[in-house]
Amino acid sequence: MFRNPTIIPVQDIHRSIEEQLSTLRSAGNYRRFLTVRKDAGRFPIFTWERGGVEGEAVNFSSNDYLGMGCDRSVASAFCGAVSSHGAGSGGTRNLSGTTVAHQSLERVIARWHGKSAALLFGSAFQANQTTLQTLGRRIEGLVFLSDAENHASIIEGIRGSGARKLVFRHNDLEHLSELLRSLPPETPRIIVFESVYSMSGDIAPVEGILALARRHGAMTYVDEVHGAGLYGDTGAGILEREGLASKVDIINGTLAKAVGVIGGYIAASAAVVDFVRSFGPGFIFTTSMPPAACVAAERSIQLIACDADRRARMFRGVARLRLRLREEGIPYLENDSHITRLLVPGAVRCRRISDRLLTHHGIYVQPLNHPTVPTGSEGFRVIVTALHEDEHIERFVQAIKTEWIEQHTHHMQA
Ligand code: PLP
Repeated sequence: MFRNPTIIPVQDIHRSIEEQLSTLRSAGNYRRFLTVRKDAGRFPIFTWERGGVEGEAVNFSSNDYLGMGCDRSVASAFCGAVSSHGAGSGGTRNLSGTTVAHQSLERVIARWHGKSAALLFGSAFQANQTTLQTLGRRIEGLVFLSDAENHASIIEGIRGSGARKLVFRHNDLEHLSELLRSLPPETPRIIVFESVYSMSGDIAPVEGILALARRHGAMTYVDEVHGAGLYGDTGAGILEREGLASKVDIINGTLAKAVGVIGGYIAASAAVVDFVRSFGPGFIFTTSMPPAACVAAERSIQLIACDADRRARMFRGVARLRLRLREEGIPYLENDSHITRLLVPGAVRCRRISDRLLTHHGIYVQPLNHPTVPTGSEGFRVIVTALHEDEHIERFVQAIKTEWIEQHTHHMQA
């Protein structure tokens, strides 16, 4: 039978899909989700189920850093708002999806970050992707200077813009300066970085980057997804702590981690916000957040802003974990944030340890593998929330000691 050679038959597409999944499996990078049953009253403990087996575990992989996702006051704000406003918004922002709840939350976010305006998105991923893509497409000749460890949403946004990108070595001011100097003075440029890096837990040299931006006439864009809610007098983030929010052009954040609900945003000048509102496809052509989620997020931010104790509790837990790790001789990567990173290279081994921690010790810590981290940098990102108790931390340390350190020593001696 005649077959047009330029057409790839559908079987080939299916074969390619199967092959790629199989490669992923054999590399140990295939993602298996654990089915979790959350109980707001018992956070960070949950029950889990896999292949007919059930158990209970302490969660060391949650981004609900302060436990706001399980806070009674936040949950009741959510429920109350569902009763009055209904479940969904029923429209894009332009089609009856801009409610008083959206506008009120945008005002609260703008004020929190010391900016004139804010814009809500379905997630911080969407906020990063849409804002960067819109800037890159619409600002003629714009060049992105992007930190090498930037999150996938930033990479996707820049890539989708089609604009030129120069990647500077992670947190390396020298390299950034060199790249800025390599551009003709008239080239418009924007430096994009995170305040707290999600995987390494490193904090950016914000002051140094902003000084370079000033010297070289660059716009600045900071992802505060892992900073907002945790650092600074009102918890607005690293920029608040360093007194630098007013020097940054665009701040990105999430309502889904420390704030504990769902959604993302940018905070910036009124003109920048109006620009993204007017030209950003990922803002325009999608249904707006449920109004009740906005009400809950607003309540959460208000609680966070006036509850420094809750934040301090989380940092005390992080310090306790690191002290115990040091005392037991368990290595971790040093950083100044709340993210504790254990390096356990080898996707298969890392997955095996994670499985045993869950099934034998009631500890949930999800292995990090490619593409979240580069191959060879596998390991655990350990999160102690404001609601972890010393006893949970101790259980984690003992379990890691048994499953990783002692196994490793045994392996080396064998
Ligand atoms: N930026 C960073 C640095 C992240 O780690 C994440 C993680 O999810 C996001 C953006 C996206 O946030 P969201 O979960 O609100 O989409």
